[in-house]
Amino acid sequence: ENEREVLILEKQIQELKHKDPQTLTRFNKFPISKNTLRAMKVCKFIHPTLVQQLVLPHALQGVDVVVDAKTGSGKTLAFVIPMVEALYRACWCRSWGLAAIIVAPTRELAYQVHEVVKRIIQFHKFTSALIIGGKDLAAEYHHIGGFNILVCTPGRLHQHVEQSPNFNVSTLKLFVIDEADLCLSMGFADMMNTILRELPRERQTMLFSATQTRNINTLIKSGCTKPVFCSTDEYA
Ligand code: ADP
Ligand code: MG
Repeated sequence: ENEREVLILEKQIQELKHKDPQTLTRFNKFPISKNTLRAMKVCKFIHPTLVQQLVLPHALQGVDVVVDAKTGSGKTLAFVIPMVEALYRACWCRSWGLAAIIVAPTRELAYQVHEVVKRIIQFHKFTSALIIGGKDLAAEYHHIGGFNILVCTPGRLHQHVEQSPNFNVSTLKLFVIDEADLCLSMGFADMMNTILRELPRERQTMLFSATQTRNINTLIKSGCTKPVFCSTDEYA
């Protein structure tokens, strides 16, 4: 039954290219799985915000995106939905290990993103964990081993990449940097580049920022492949 739904979703995603984003006024008009839509309904997420309307058609197709939209515009769902949907369409099993990493610059922001992830995956079988440090690294390594989705601060993720010899990122399919501008202004550029070098090349990368800054150009170059740029500025 899932297989049937996945085939339909894949067909609808192909057709997204020809759709006028203006007509996508409700989430249920997007090729999004029943489990995800059900969770969104519980959360009262019915109508997409502008940034979600602009980003979802591209991000659901699996291409890289670079997005800027101001704080409060709804960027979190614009990457959490395509991430969860990519896992669903890949029929990702719990036991397949790590599929997606989201990086956010502070513990508080990572915590907030993880809360959204948990709500959106509530009817799926995926597992997720918040990796923000404060716990013993070795103990955490054993405990993060099997999760499908990790929400991390840059420092902690970098520590695992560098110091946990068996931390396996080879299965990774999606990599998201939230508040990329803030990550850079907080001095995480080198760590981000070290992390990016370790990730599989075949992946979807999504960079989100609250501001348009030239600083992130280097990060875009090292992290993204032919990204689609989405900005809500021109709609202001
Ligand atoms: P940003 O990351 O751009 O600052 P958030 O993703 O944190 O924005 O979203 C801001 C607020 O808007 C949150 O409280 C979130 O629950 C709410 N929100 C986001 N998208 C929707 C939507 N489509 N419908 C209703 N509320 C939404
Ligand atoms: Mg945000």
